[in-house]
Amino acid sequence: MPIGIWILGDQLSDINPALSACHGDKRETFIIMIESLEYVRKRRYHKQKLVFIWAAMRHFARRLSGEGWRVDYIVTEEDFAPVIRQWVRENNITELRMMMPADRPFFEYISRLELNCTITWYNNTNFLWQPEEFKEWAKGRKRLILEDFYREGRRRWKILLTEAFKPVGGKWNLDKENRKPPNKKILPPKRLSFEPDEITKEVIEKVKKLDIPTYGKLEKFEWGVTRESALKALKDFVENRLHRFGIYQDAMLTGEEYMWHSLLSPYLNVGLLHPLEVIKAVENALTEKSMPLNSVEGFIRQVLGWREYMYGVYHYVEKDYFQSNWFNHQQPLPTFFWDSNKTDLNCLKQVLKQTENTAYAHHIQRLMILSNYALISGICPQEIENWFHGAYIDAYDWVMQTNVLGMGQFADGGFLATKPYVSSANYIKKMSDYCENCRYNPSERNTENACPFNYLYWDFLARHKDKLKSQGRMALALKQLETIPPQQLKQMQTLAGKWREKQNL
Ligand SMILES: Cc1cc2nc3c(=O)[nH]c(=O)nc-3n(C[C@H](O)[C@H](O)[C@H](O)COP(=O)(O)OP(=O)(O)OC[C@H]3O[C@@H](n4cnc5c(N)ncnc54)[C@H](O)[C@@H]3O)c2cc1C
Ligand code: SF4
Repeated sequence: MPIGIWILGDQLSDINPALSACHGDKRETFIIMIESLEYVRKRRYHKQKLVFIWAAMRHFARRLSGEGWRVDYIVTEEDFAPVIRQWVRENNITELRMMMPADRPFFEYISRLELNCTITWYNNTNFLWQPEEFKEWAKGRKRLILEDFYREGRRRWKILLTEAFKPVGGKWNLDKENRKPPNKKILPPKRLSFEPDEITKEVIEKVKKLDIPTYGKLEKFEWGVTRESALKALKDFVENRLHRFGIYQDAMLTGEEYMWHSLLSPYLNVGLLHPLEVIKAVENALTEKSMPLNSVEGFIRQVLGWREYMYGVYHYVEKDYFQSNWFNHQQPLPTFFWDSNKTDLNCLKQVLKQTENTAYAHHIQRLMILSNYALISGICPQEIENWFHGAYIDAYDWVMQTNVLGMGQFADGGFLATKPYVSSANYIKKMSDYCENCRYNPSERNTENACPFNYLYWDFLARHKDKLKSQGRMALALKQLETIPPQQLKQMQTLAGKWREKQNL
């Protein structure tokens, strides 16, 4: 009864339960990993993302072989289906064991393959909460609230709790102490950079030669691709950036791509790091390294709260969630998203240039610069989601639908977020230095020189005011809208209309 294990590119985990289930029979178990070119033809991916996934897969396969497993690592021009069917047939596999894919379309794809063997599914250990557990937690709740979910996670895994099961420091949430504007005198240290080894260099050469549409630059590839490098990246964050993570979580500075962020999402999302080990390392740093509680709690909320919550919501919502478009936005994606040289809005230019160079942007850059712009200018949510999915090194379907469609574009009408994340130039000016070197004026809103974020923001509120009335947290913004003299609002709407037309050329 030969048993097979298929390991996907985002399942490179030491604690993959499909592997643990066969540990005693390493030589009798067949493992397959497939590097498919056809699969990556479906979307325009960042070159560094392709290198990251394929190099990490190759290293993982080598590691398994070194541990005595029989691994077939197949590099193919084809899609997965013919390769896996042939492999199952040739090896007479009667049972295929797999960790549950994080992405729903992939699970459906595999289920439809008719492989002529049984498939046994195992829990996805890239997450602490399994989808069924999330559904159980959600049952009977009128609204799913992140804060409630996060506190439940703290209790379940006994994180930052006193012996009396109260939050350490007396409060569950220390957000009020965080999110300060940047300070140019307090600059973050350089990130830990990993030199590509021979395996990674081979993949870099392969990606450079690809004749399919890709995105971004590959001159400098600094990401780690092994468990060992992921652990080093975790250590580097805890020792060098965690102490200021909380306070500068939302701050942006020109040329500082990473600020005080962890850069751990690529590793977490492919299983090279496990969420609980990351959470524990940061929790331990509170006492062992005297790290400030606002940073420790703020970071743990991101991983134990937001990350798990987004995964849970993704599996909880209806299958057609990916089509959501509450505002019925239909503008095509401007071409400058694929080429930062084509925009003269400095905030967009900086974040897009950085994305081209690194395949990374931190949360506020993604939310309050790129996604904010897409929302107020009326870009179709599915177009911007597709761009995010290809551009970022840590992007997968589960994290795109919730973050881009739900949080960023409010395309689900408020199921996930309690209000649309939109802002004028005010916020960007306060939280970054981008406006200092911009040809537009962040303080003007109805002149030719005015910052487009300003007139697009007011135009967005005016266009959707009837819909937005149902969103309690928008009341203040709508009140401000009413105070704008009609003539001024009209000027802004004309500018916004012209801007959208120009963008489509
Ligand atoms: C429009 C938009 C697109 C995004 N795209 C992605 C994406 O493709 N992949 C991705 O993993 N995250 C995404 N996020 C969430 C978040 O921005 C990234 O996880 C974070 O920027 C990754 O960088 P970091 O590891 O340095 O994070 P840090 O700021 O150091 O945060 C720590 C960790 O918290 C987790 N986290 C925090 N917020 C979220 C969240 N909302 N959803 C999921 N995990 C979260 C991540 O694992 C991250 O590594 C997106 C958010 C928005 C608003
Ligand atoms: S002025 Fe406007 S476009 Fe320029 S950087 Fe500031 S917010 Fe961005």
